[in-house]
Amino acid sequence: MKLARYGDPGREVPAVVLDGGQVLDARPVTDDYHPDFFASGGLDRLREAVQRQAVPDLDVTGWRLGAPLTRPGKIVCIGLNYRQHAIESEMEIPAEPIVFLKTASTLVGPNDDVHIPRRSRKTDWEVELAVVIGTVASYLDSPADSMRCVAGYAVSNDVSEREFQLERGGQWDKGKNCATFNPCGPWVVTADEVEDPQDLDLFLDVNDQRLQTGNTSDMIFPVDHLIWYLSQFMVLEPGDLINTGTPAGVGHGLRPPRYLVAGDRMELGITGLGAQRSRTVASP
Ligand code: ZN
Repeated sequence: MKLARYGDPGREVPAVVLDGGQVLDARPVTDDYHPDFFASGGLDRLREAVQRQAVPDLDVTGWRLGAPLTRPGKIVCIGLNYRQHAIESEMEIPAEPIVFLKTASTLVGPNDDVHIPRRSRKTDWEVELAVVIGTVASYLDSPADSMRCVAGYAVSNDVSEREFQLERGGQWDKGKNCATFNPCGPWVVTADEVEDPQDLDLFLDVNDQRLQTGNTSDMIFPVDHLIWYLSQFMVLEPGDLINTGTPAGVGHGLRPPRYLVAGDRMELGITGLGAQRSRTVASP
């Protein structure tokens, strides 16, 4: 199943997008895709309702696509998780996953405008595979226990301001949490429809120029390792998002570096998970 949310910000309607493009209204099953939906077996209820045709069509002509789930409890991000990206960043290949957090308020729809923050000179892009947690993961015994905790996958853009992140002292948070810095979607594809999360192609274009390409097989720490690892330090809860790192080709790694300015267009996507198209605008 593909879970999507359509409508104005804060008023999105939960929907299911079928393979032919038909959109179904999920509201007979849930008022939204919030943590409780995942925690209470909502995915099974929704699948069953779709199968017995208990959810009506939804006409979304002209509607905005929102982020495919409501504000998660947390967004956990993994830094430098692709070998070539660590090299272009002139950082060492990490011996353990590099972990940082992104606030849930950064989450926006896949085609929403991305704001260039005030006083920013180094706003950058990062296409990433996002994992949606479906059941609590805490102190998992081994990576073999991880995948049963996954509800689905989505495309994420871990937008980053490199000067705020790397040159202003402290942790990375200042460069990762600006408004609109986490476009997500177009939808969550449920885990049963993603045969191998470690064999997905990723791409990102800026103004029609291909700048990032990669495959999730190049991850230093694969998804099952990341969930097991994170569960040793924090409780992963239903609805939480994990941004699993970006492949090479970010603006900061180009020679000379290149950063986003208002009016740029980003297009990014992952095999089977859809694509996003966003524009950059000056922060209000
Ligand atoms: Zn990232």
